[in-house]
Amino acid sequence: MIIAITGTPGVGKTTVSKLLAERLNYRYVNLRDYALEKGLGEMKGDELELDVDELVENFAKDFKGEDVVVDSHLAHHVPADIVVVLRAHPKLVAERLKARDYSKEKVGENVEAELIDVILVEAIEENENVIEVDTTGKTPGEVVEEILGLIERGVRRRIGIVDWSEVYDEVVPYLRL
Ligand code: ADP
Ligand code: MG
Repeated sequence: MIIAITGTPGVGKTTVSKLLAERLNYRYVNLRDYALEKGLGEMKGDELELDVDELVENFAKDFKGEDVVVDSHLAHHVPADIVVVLRAHPKLVAERLKARDYSKEKVGENVEAELIDVILVEAIEENENVIEVDTTGKTPGEVVEEILGLIERGVRRRIGIVDWSEVYDEVVPYLRL
């Protein structure tokens, strides 16, 4: 089974994916590292620019039939059995990205993306089986347990569980307005 873990940068994909892969005894694949290994994409400054179609084609060929947890904000584009969209309060996203020395511009861009469900909407367009999980106020272990519980119960679609417009006022200071 291929489980894709996607979401806005800073929501906790890498932390949760590694833990989930460990629990399931699945292979952990970070799409960026995979692309670099395969020589896909082009470095533009600090950023790796990827051709999503090329990335997906390669991934599909290399991991067909394997048990993989795939970690990336692009993971919802690969042919996955289940796409998990991790969510976090946009303020958490902001604080985590600030701690990573992201520019104000980049922080604002990602906070806005989390606020308006950009990745969720993309994921729904790509895959029938989309499970949304709110990580806010939970430990990575609790998030992994929640994902495992949902998968074991056969849940394949659970969306619309967060609405960050309710906390818009708290988020405004981080936006590029
Ligand atoms: P991403 O890969 O989405 O950019 P990371 O996993 O690299 O996110 O970073 C998330 C940060 O948030 C880590 O420092 C992690 O320890 C922390 N964190 C706190 N709570 C959680 C949670 N419930 N799930 C995932 N990460 C969490
Ligand atoms: Mg990551």
